[in-house]
Amino acid sequence: MHAIRCRTSSALTFALLTVLASASRGRSCLGQSWVDRKVCRPFVCQAEFPLARLDGLLGELDQLQADLVRYLGVPPAREPIEVYLFRDKQSYSGYLRRHLPNVPYRRALYVKKRGPGMVLAYQNREFQTDLRHECTHALLHAVLPVVPLWLDEGLAEYFEVPPRERAFGNPHLSSLRWSLRLGMVPRLENLEKKAGLSEMGKNEYRDSWAWVHFMLHGPKEAHNELVGFLRDIRASTPPGLLSGRLQRRVPDTQKRFVTHFNNWK
Ligand SMILES: [Zn+2]
Repeated sequence: MHAIRCRTSSALTFALLTVLASASRGRSCLGQSWVDRKVCRPFVCQAEFPLARLDGLLGELDQLQADLVRYLGVPPAREPIEVYLFRDKQSYSGYLRRHLPNVPYRRALYVKKRGPGMVLAYQNREFQTDLRHECTHALLHAVLPVVPLWLDEGLAEYFEVPPRERAFGNPHLSSLRWSLRLGMVPRLENLEKKAGLSEMGKNEYRDSWAWVHFMLHGPKEAHNELVGFLRDIRASTPPGLLSGRLQRRVPDTQKRFVTHFNNWK
């Protein structure tokens, strides 16, 4: 299974198939000026700068793995995840041009074709957020044969903020509240129809995050259904649509979703 995932952006238009076709070339990192390497299983990090300055963040990634196991019921990743960290945008862009020429520019990327997944990011103000986001994708894809696009991005958006900010401090929360005040309630069925990243704009990332938040912090039955859905994917049992499963398990799902956020203080 091929996958390309990345951070949200206002200009999200590219041909996913082209990206997938070219992804294999990214495996070679010869000629790159790596100055440090550190293994924090499952992550194998190579960087163009001393990794000592990332000690806190690498510890957080370890916690991220533990949290995915705890909240989602998935096993820990056993296969290695290659993480390539660049000193700046110029070096990162140059690498993408040479090794992933058909991937439209994004600030950080997760790429998986055959074999281990790869996370690529460069030092910038959002560096830590980028890494948490892409590493969430990598940890999920290391143990699940497939992850629906909206759920993949919703989980990555949820786990990209520092742990203490996940429940109340995600920037999506205020935007969602405005949307709900205007009577615009995101429908999970619409998100499930999104087939490629080009169909995922800023609102779709926010709405995906919101449904994940609902399932993690809302009714217990909704959380159980999410865990069961992921368990079925892992067992290669046709999981059906999560929207349908939620409707059956949590009557009036849409209303409960609105109530959840109205009461979330
Ligand atoms: Zn993403």
